[in-house]
Amino acid sequence: MAKKRDSGRKETRLQKEKSFSRRDFFKSGAAAGVSAAVLVGPGKASAQGIAWNYEVDVVVCGAGCTGLHAAIRARDLGASVLVVDSNFDVGGKMIHSGGFVSLGGGDAIQARDRAGADPDGFGLTAPLVPPADLEDDPDLLFKDMTDWSVVDASGVGRYRYNDRQLHRAWADNAPLTRQFQLENHVRFARVDGTHFGGGVSRARMAKAMLKLAAKTDIKAGTLSAEDRGDPEKERHSRFNPMRQTPGIPAASVGAPGWVYGGFCLARCLEFSAREKGVRFMLNRHLDEIIREGQLTGRVLGIKASYTPRFEPGTGAQLLAERQHRRARSHDPYPRTQGGHRRHRRPSEQSLRSHHV
Ligand SMILES: Cc1cc2nc3c(=O)[nH]c(=O)nc-3n(C[C@H](O)[C@H](O)[C@H](O)COP(=O)(O)OP(=O)(O)OC[C@H]3O[C@@H](n4cnc5c(N)ncnc54)[C@H](O)[C@@H]3O)c2cc1C
Repeated sequence: MAKKRDSGRKETRLQKEKSFSRRDFFKSGAAAGVSAAVLVGPGKASAQGIAWNYEVDVVVCGAGCTGLHAAIRARDLGASVLVVDSNFDVGGKMIHSGGFVSLGGGDAIQARDRAGADPDGFGLTAPLVPPADLEDDPDLLFKDMTDWSVVDASGVGRYRYNDRQLHRAWADNAPLTRQFQLENHVRFARVDGTHFGGGVSRARMAKAMLKLAAKTDIKAGTLSAEDRGDPEKERHSRFNPMRQTPGIPAASVGAPGWVYGGFCLARCLEFSAREKGVRFMLNRHLDEIIREGQLTGRVLGIKASYTPRFEPGTGAQLLAERQHRRARSHDPYPRTQGGHRRHRRPSEQSLRSHHV
């Protein structure tokens, strides 16, 4: 499966020479979906009688929290990666979230705050919790997550029903995950406790943030007012569709001039993934995982179908923030009231024969 290929556009291009035409693909009844991605060589694929449209080492289903992390990691390890998401933009629930990231186990942000440091010059204020509350290691994290003897009011018992091996793996990987996020353009405010009490003994939560500035520049860690949205009017932006007040001021978590939210995590990870050559296929719902046998054997690929989303009322197709941003610079189409490009709603036939 981990066959190495060149990165870039070539790896996901339509493999015309190996497959019959898309019309034949649909006529054959081999698959009713619109696109398919394959994880193995064409020999296996043709054995299934399926014409594969794309070929990559790793297909990730969902461009949300787990999907973006997984995609970047696979790409870092040298795989060609395609992320398929049924939504019109990346981020999943993560982009609507508060951006509270509880990791710990002695992670780099705990260490930074324990030292009272501000190595990146974010203009952070003094740490919010005493150094002793930031002394942590993976064993303590594992114990906190699994110790049934903790019955205090803030204990979140349901965590403790989880699989022990998963807890162990999570605890061992928590500091690495924080490091991974830091290396992929994510910035954090001061540690300010742990998820809603959590029944744990150390402070492990820090909020993902971006700094308000004239323009959005992920590498510089900055966010424009337009991309933040307008908290006064409770107006969100395409860049920041978070559920709560758009872009919450981070002064209360030690970072004056910054704002926090799930979009700060999601957009930074998206940026990094694209920068590294991860490919995205949005508006595509994963319908089926195709294996060697019906329910057994190696995974050969997936089948996905086109699932565009439209704005109720106007019928305008909802575009990813990135597409919209591009379109704005030379947009030949009239805008709808909501600022969307107006697209003709595709007919059923054109959806089914759409080339990805
Ligand atoms: C309002 C809100 C606030 C939250 N705040 C926090 C917080 O502050 N801190 C915290 O730790 N957690 C928070 N959470 C929880 C956190 O967002 C989720 O636990 C996390 O996003 C789950 O990650 P995930 O990858 O499993 O799912 P998601 O992030 O939702 O990503 C799943 C993705 O998969 C796509 N998808 C699903 N099925 C298919 C398919 N068949 N084909 C193609 N694509 C598919 C979806 O469109 C989506 O993009 C919050 C959640 C919400 C809703």
